[in-house]
Order: sequence, then C-alpha cells, then structure tokens
Amino acid sequence: MSLALSGTGVARGIIIGRVHHIQAGSTDVTERKISGKKVAAECERFRQARRTATEELRAIRDAIPAGSPSDISAFIESHLLMLQDATLSDAVVKLIEDRRCNAEWALRMQRDALVAVFEQMDDPYLRTRKDDVDHVVTRIQRVLLDQPHTIETDVDDSQPTVVVAEDLAPADVITLHNNGLAAFVTEAGSPLSHSAILARSLGIPAIVSVRGARLLQEGETVIVDGQNGFLVAAPDEKALQQYSEAQAEEKAWRERLAELKNQPAETLDGTHVHLRANIELPEDVGVCYENGADGIGLYRTEFLYLNREIAPTEQEQLDAYTSVMLALPNQSVTIRTLDLGADKTLDGGRQTTGPVANNPALGLRGIRLCLQDAELFKPQLRALLKAANTSPLRVMLPMVSNLQELQQAKAMIAAVREELLAEGVSLNQDFKLGAMIEVPAAALCAEQLAEHVDFFSIGTNDLIQYALAIDRIDDQVNYLYDPLHPAVLRLISMTLDAGKKANIPVAMCGEMAGDLRLVPLLLGMGLREFSTHPANLLEVKHRIRQLELSDLEPLAEAALSASDAQSVVELLDDWHSQHQAQRA
Ligand code: PEP
Ligand code: MG
Repeated sequence: MSLALSGTGVARGIIIGRVHHIQAGSTDVTERKISGKKVAAECERFRQARRTATEELRAIRDAIPAGSPSDISAFIESHLLMLQDATLSDAVVKLIEDRRCNAEWALRMQRDALVAVFEQMDDPYLRTRKDDVDHVVTRIQRVLLDQPHTIETDVDDSQPTVVVAEDLAPADVITLHNNGLAAFVTEAGSPLSHSAILARSLGIPAIVSVRGARLLQEGETVIVDGQNGFLVAAPDEKALQQYSEAQAEEKAWRERLAELKNQPAETLDGTHVHLRANIELPEDVGVCYENGADGIGLYRTEFLYLNREIAPTEQEQLDAYTSVMLALPNQSVTIRTLDLGADKTLDGGRQTTGPVANNPALGLRGIRLCLQDAELFKPQLRALLKAANTSPLRVMLPMVSNLQELQQAKAMIAAVREELLAEGVSLNQDFKLGAMIEVPAAALCAEQLAEHVDFFSIGTNDLIQYALAIDRIDDQVNYLYDPLHPAVLRLISMTLDAGKKANIPVAMCGEMAGDLRLVPLLLGMGLREFSTHPANLLEVKHRIRQLELSDLEPLAEAALSASDAQSVVELLDDWHSQHQAQRA
C-alpha cells in the first residue's frame, strides 16, 4: 500500500527514484577524562582533526565545476572560515586544558554553547546558522572518531537515487550531486538552510522536515514532489502514471524555455524589453549567460566584503568588475556600490565597533555609510573608474534618500577621478551614474533626482519595506509585505513617469521584477528594463513574449486607482483568467 509523507518542499521538480539512506548526521561521542600528562597530546589530536577536516572541505570546494553559481562555493567557504574561527578552536583547546576532557567531549560542549547562542537569535536566517555549526562540528568529530566522512551514493543507473538522511551539510549536497543524486529528503532542515538554497541553485528536487523519512525502506521506490513537499512511498500504478506524466510535462516545459535563450524579449506588438540578471559574485555570470541574460542589471558588490575581516583591495575589486564585464562583452553591466549595513556587515570591521543601531535598516547603510567612510568607499570608486575603461559601465548608488547624497557622491567621484589622473592613470570613458529608488522619499522626489543622474533602478525589496514600514527580515510582520499595495504601485509609477519626463531609463531590480504574475502589470505601467535572479529569466521572457502592450495599459490604470491590495489581486486574477497564459 502506498504511503504519503509530507514536509517542506524547498526545491521544485519531480523525481521517481530509489531510496538510499546515508548517515551524514550527528555522531555519538564518549565522554572521557584524561590525565594531565596527556593534555598536550589531546589538544594536538584536536588540532590535527581540524586540519584534516579543513583539507577535506578544501578538496570538495576545489571539485566544484567552474561556472557553478557562487552560493555553492560560498557555503563551503563559510564552513572553512568557521573551522578557522577562534570561537570554535581556541575554546575547545581551553576546555581540554581546563577540564581535562577528551577532544570529542570538549568539542561537543563548545558546539552546545554556540548552538545555544544561535537559538536565541530573532532572525530566522541566523537561527538556521546553528545547522552550520553542527555540520562543521560533525566533520571534525568524524575525523576524531576515525569515521571517514565519505558519502556513498552507490549509483544504480537504472533508477534515479533519492538520498534520505537525518540532515545534510552543503558539502554533502555537493558531493552527492557530483555522484549523481537525483533528489534528497531530510528529517531536519529548513527552506533557509544553505543546503536548501544549494538544492535550488543546483536544480535538485528536495524536501526537508519530513518526519518519518528514516522509516523508508532502503531501495524502495518513492516519488519526490519538491514543489509541493510531498513524498509517496511504494506508489501504486495510478500514482506512478500521474507523476510520470507531470514529470514529462515539466521536462518538456524546461526544454521549451531553454529554446528561448536566444530569442528576443519582445511583446507581441514588437516592444523590446531589457531582461537582465542580478548577481552577487563574478562566478554567477556563467548562469546568466546560460539563461540568455541581456547583461547584468544589479551586481551586489557588498558580497565581496562579506565573511572577511578586511575590505577587498582596489585591485581585487577591479579584477572582479572587469571579469564580469569581459565575460559579457557588448552587454550592459550595472554595478551597485557597496550596500553594507542593515543585515550585511563587514565582519570584524568598522561596523562592529560603532554603537549598535536600534533600527539597522533605517541606520547607517548603503550610500550613507559610504559617504561617511571615505576610506571604505574610495577604493571602490577608484576600481569602478578604472573598470569603465574596459567597456561601457553603469554604476548605481543604493539607499539614496535626498539630492545632497547624490551631489556628495558625485563630488567624491570627481575628486577620485582627479586623484587618478594626477597619478597618471588614463581614464578613457566615464561610467553612467544612477540612483536606486528604494526609499519612498526618493520615489516622491524622483523628478528632481532624475535631473542629476543617467538612470534609475527601482529596488522594490527595500521600497516595500520602507513604504509599508515592515522589516523585510522580521517574520512576525511578513504577512504585511505586499508588492501590490497601491502605495507601492504608485511609488513605482511615479518613478517611471519621472524617468520618462527626464528621458532617462528606469530599471527594476527588486524581486518584483521576477514575479511572473506581475509582468503584465509592470509592462503596462511602462517598465522596460527588468533585472532578476538568472533562474527566473526564461520564464519572464516567455511571459513577455505572450503579451500585447495595448491590453496592459488599461490593466495598469485600473490597478493604480485600486483602493487596496486585494482589489489589485482580483484585477490581476480576472485579467489572467481572461488572457490565460498558455504554456504552448
Ligand atoms: C532591493 O532593495 O530591491 C534591492 C534590489 O536591493 P537588495 O535586495 O540588495 O537590498
Ligand atoms: Mg535594496
């Protein structure tokens, strides 16, 4: 008889495969007191285990195929950093010395202390980071216990392998992916875990938080539905047929989308739309290319600054920027100056030394921080000015809230340019300078700001947060976060109108630009430059190519005069059912 288990679907796709259990989870340790004479040797045993764990992780990182999305190696890097961190290693050595306990026991005590700190955190993403502590600790424990951390998938080509585990570390997911796993199911985990994010990047269907998954029989056939978080064990003929059909449909749909890669993003009436990608690291460019991106609409450069003690050098930045520009010759590249502050800080850097802000999202972030900290900002401006020699470049400033900030930034750019020229650096081309419109004040004053910049880019993630007074990472008020709130739509529309009046392009690079449901509305409002996660590009292009502009303007007009978000939802639903988007 078939059995259904449910959990949280974290990466979509359907797989019909064979269960393979792996033990990648926690380890049992023996608590042992050691004599004073053995303390030094025990500390060395721990240090050696840490070195071996580091080598193992480095080998996994080095085996990541070139051109893979940056988050894949970023997660391994974050585990490598944790392995080097004194909070973990020095504390364990001290516990061995002070308490005369064996290394495994000391490591477990320190793990418990660190996990307790993460569990206190309000932010759900940071709370999930306790899993990273566990993954790193488990890796060292396995070395100490002489249990090699090898993951055998024992791939049988006749049927895809569905890995079932208590939990999986990002490194496990990479190793399993390289060994050909088709899907995974874990008892623990959350949609925000690094392993879940990786599954999405790698396109591996996955379900987490599946209670009872350990009871599945080794080798039995299961259906994994990663979209709906559903697993069917011992499926009957009917379920097998139903899911095989859904799987074939999904595959055919992906193939049809892939064919759009080199097709223009054009509405049925021939209006051309720029469809660009958001990236975090230069390595992401490969995925943009595969998804037919028409350039980069947002390069979040602050990712170069995260997880490190010292800011990247000017040369390091120049190399990163030019590598993106050279990888996409003749395409538009928009680089955002660093948006540190709020939820993104430079570890061990200046932001941890100042007073703790009560409302970091309203505090010293983005352009505010850069204007106050020339030492931080100038190397980036120097690198950007030099990078502009490579090919046409657009640079945009985050969190602009008034004209003075734009003027100060321009003065700083001019001073840096003079400095470079005085040093004999030749600067052949200027970059175009833009402002992100993500603070309601900037949208309301967009007409005035437009006279001082070459383009705008609407950052809807922050614009919604600030317009609706909702902390975007606070899950208690998440239910209020609504892109369809008429206030948000009006701010977007004002920005588009201001851009049109001043004859400057207006792009959108927040999550709204990748939301298929909103594409007709945004086009109707006049948006012609969309920038989104590369994984969304082909579906957005497909949607654009089905639309006729003359149908969209009345939709936008009606949405802009709606009295609440619910009315906009109804308008969109009605519109979609009338113009049913066919997959064909
Ligand atoms: C935005 O706010 O919409 C945006 C694109 O910037 P970030 O998400 O990096 O704050
Ligand atoms: Mg933003």
